[in-house]
Amino acid sequence: MTPKKHKGNKKYFQCEECLLYYKTKALAAQCKNFCRRHKSCNLKITKKAVTIH
Ligand SMILES: [Zn+2]
Repeated sequence: MTPKKHKGNKKYFQCEECLLYYKTKALAAQCKNFCRRHKSCNLKITKKAVTIH
């Protein structure tokens, strides 16, 4: 299960491996799969990560 985080009225999905947040569950899942397999992050995916303050 993908952890979710709410910020205001926005909802984000977290990659369990690198702990980055994404706007869609699909992106978080992609990131998680890549992180698990390669033990590092895919820049093309992490570029789409959102920063939460
Ligand atoms: Zn990740």
